[in-house]
Amino acid sequence: MSHVFHRHLKHHYPTAVAGDGPWLIDSEGRRYLDACGGAAVSCLGHSDAEVRNAIVEQVQTMAYAHSSFFTNEPMEQLADFLIERAPAGLDSVYFVSGGSEAIEAALKMARQYFLEIGEPQRRYVIARRQSYHGNTLGALATGGNAWRRKPFEPLLLEMSHVSPCYAYRDQRPGESDADYVERLASELETRIEQLGADQVMAFVAEPVVGATLGAVPAVKGYFQRIREICDRHGILLILDEVMCGMGRTGSLFAAEQEGISADLITVAKGLGAGYQPIGATLASGRIRDAIAAGSGFFQHGHTYIGHATACAAALAVQQVVESRDLLARVRILGEGLQQRLVARFGDHPHVGDIRGRGLFRGLELVQDRDSKVPFNAALGVNGKVKKAAMEQGLMCYPAGGTIDGRQGDHILLAPPFILDDSHLDEIVERLGRAIDLAH
Ligand code: PLP
Repeated sequence: MSHVFHRHLKHHYPTAVAGDGPWLIDSEGRRYLDACGGAAVSCLGHSDAEVRNAIVEQVQTMAYAHSSFFTNEPMEQLADFLIERAPAGLDSVYFVSGGSEAIEAALKMARQYFLEIGEPQRRYVIARRQSYHGNTLGALATGGNAWRRKPFEPLLLEMSHVSPCYAYRDQRPGESDADYVERLASELETRIEQLGADQVMAFVAEPVVGATLGAVPAVKGYFQRIREICDRHGILLILDEVMCGMGRTGSLFAAEQEGISADLITVAKGLGAGYQPIGATLASGRIRDAIAAGSGFFQHGHTYIGHATACAAALAVQQVVESRDLLARVRILGEGLQQRLVARFGDHPHVGDIRGRGLFRGLELVQDRDSKVPFNAALGVNGKVKKAAMEQGLMCYPAGGTIDGRQGDHILLAPPFILDDSHLDEIVERLGRAIDLAH
């Protein structure tokens, strides 16, 4: 018996022992093509020499120094790197250990900002149904994924949820993108009015919805409209790019493709690419300035803020992405993957939608393509696909699940940026066999 408190306690996990580019290898010598980066994490695959060397060098120099006593060079350099490339207005970075912590920090920064500027009544957060922002209690309360929330509802802060921008299911037949955006905008405006415009602190959204819906971008103009509504009411916009950021959709920040900036942006996963656990909250100048000019102290912290080795790893990851021009590669490979998916599953009776951006692609599984009737969520078809895929030597991420008892299941693909076309062929071929076996 394993003494590890595994997440699935009735499940047998193979033991991963080695990484080789986009492949993971288990103790039996089986090879798995990592088509999802675990959970959109491993953007450089599993054996990048430059990143490994950067980690070794940092550990040999100084592994860690607590952030309440010192700053450190990798943390300063990584912050400079990110801010030089971030959307307009963002000017400082708070480093944590992962995505949930990044969201918690963003929520607290938003709250403290309003305390510092003399608007202590602002406390409500509006987020979207069908979203995931992490599993710590504040982040879980922010997300709208009913299945993840359900057991913990009594412990969750009250948050307000509005509809996501989910064209495949929610855009009405004949409704233009502009009309759909207006419908969602008016729902948000109504909610803001109900809560009291001067009581709302922040609106939180993933630019491309990941774990809950499987790579769903918003329709054109949606985020610009959201930005405009937030500005008009003095509400902070928090964009959660934990999954879709750091190049995953073909630009370093997903917000770039929406033509907007945010007051706070959270990133994690692809930031350290799995070589070290790291996340970050990027904050706009007005938030940092308000706290600096007021109390001068952000009242929040964790032991591993700005961990030197994690920051050195993330800096190396981002330098590799840039020096090898991998964002251009993400865009090209992403188109190639989409074309192959459409060619293989475009007429598949159980694939209702194929979508995404860059190397962030989702398939929505349905019982029936025409009616879009989802599978009975309790059957967990995406879980069966994941299992069948592992048997085919392929890792894919089962997104979604039982949400609102309404939509079906999704398969998320988020492979490393270092693939070539033959890997794309292999992913689609193995995924096809897995989906067929799972039904
Ligand atoms: N936000 C988003 C959009 C995510 O997809 C996730 C994880 O999947 C998180 C936050 C939480 O990140 P972590 O699991 O690193 O705490």
